[in-house]
Formats: sequence, structure tokens, C-alpha cells
Amino acid sequence: MTEEKRKAILARYRLTDKYKVKQERYLESEKGVDYLSKKRQRHRRRRLNKETSGTLTAYEYRVIVHAYRKKCAYCGKITRTNVSDHDPDLRTIDHVIPLSKGGEHSRTNVVPACRACNDLKGDQDGWVPQPPIGKLKF
Ligand SMILES: [Zn+2]
Repeated sequence: MTEEKRKAILARYRLTDKYKVKQERYLESEKGVDYLSKKRQRHRRRRLNKETSGTLTAYEYRVIVHAYRKKCAYCGKITRTNVSDHDPDLRTIDHVIPLSKGGEHSRTNVVPACRACNDLKGDQDGWVPQPPIGKLKF
């Protein structure tokens, strides 16, 4: 069997209910939970790697947040930092073009966003942030 044929058969199998049930059972098992945790770790490490290799400085980020008057660049809501990680008002760094799509961790690609908008946006691109209220004086 050719590699191509094998892949096609596998792809077809993955559309079946039998596979979905098996996959669900696996992801709930100890092994599956471990797999997902490692997958998340890999994703986080890759993201951190990209962020630390970017050019955005803490100073530049503060200037950007100030120019946006601490508001979310997408919904305009005031964002906060003294809340829990999952609070919808939490201020997060949003990469307009996601890092996963080749965007840079630099001042031209970073805006403040509330947790709610950032979660909704995920790794989609095409979200257009509002322009800052104040000037970006770096
Ligand atoms: Zn928002």
C-alpha cells in the first residue's frame, strides 16, 4: 500500500463514529489527559519562545496601553490587571496577526485586548483593532 493510500484510508476512518467514540474515550483516559497536557505545554513553550524572541519592550507595551487609555482595542471596554486569569475584563496582549500565523511580537503588531475578546479571537487574523485614542509616543 502506498503512503498516500494509507493516509486516505486513515482520513476516512477518522470521519466515522467508531473513531470519534474511541478518540473521546482516549482523551478522557489517563493517557489522553497526559497527552493533552503535554500538547498544551508544547504550545505554550512555542508561544513563549516567539514572544521572548520578539522586539516588544515593556516600555513600548506601556506606551501602547496608555495610548488606548487601558481600553480593549476591539470592544472599547476598560481592561484591568488586578483580576483573575479568566476574568473577561483582564487586560491581555493581543497579537493582531497571531504569532501562529507569522505575526511578530513587536509594537506594530500588539494591542491591548480584554480576555473576552482575545479568547473569542483566538488565532484568527482579520480582526481589525480600533486606532488608539492618544498618540503612540515611543
Ligand atoms: Zn474586548
